[in-house]
Amino acid sequence: MDHERAQSLFMSYHDAELPAREVEALEAHLAQCTECSLAWQGYKAAVEEISGLLKVTPAPDFSKRVQQAIGRRSRGRFFSESSDSGGLGIAIVSVILVLVFALLYLLIATSGEVKVVDPGASSDPKGAASP
Ligand SMILES: [Zn+2]
Repeated sequence: MDHERAQSLFMSYHDAELPAREVEALEAHLAQCTECSLAWQGYKAAVEEISGLLKVTPAPDFSKRVQQAIGRRSRGRFFSESSDSGGLGIAIVSVILVLVFALLYLLIATSGEVKVVDPGASSDPKGAASP
């Protein structure tokens, strides 16, 4: 295995995606080649540093504090101090409004059908009664 080939396998080797035969060949090369061994150490260090950067986890109350900061800076226009209950209240109110409008629509739609049926039904008895 030459240096170029060995170093091209670093990513797969680090991610444990290399076939066993390739792992064997690469490890044999790394054991006897200072240049590739140093390159491997550098690659590993760089990857671990980068993945360490990505592993930052926010504090548990991070989003709440962001909302509070937004609430303060917008003087309560967004995320007012009682943001949790306020947000839930708005959600509940909007769900209720959607249900009310759906019910109203259904009532209007069904009463429209009844009105369409009613004149025909009521005219028949009148027509039958008048002659
Ligand atoms: Zn080498």
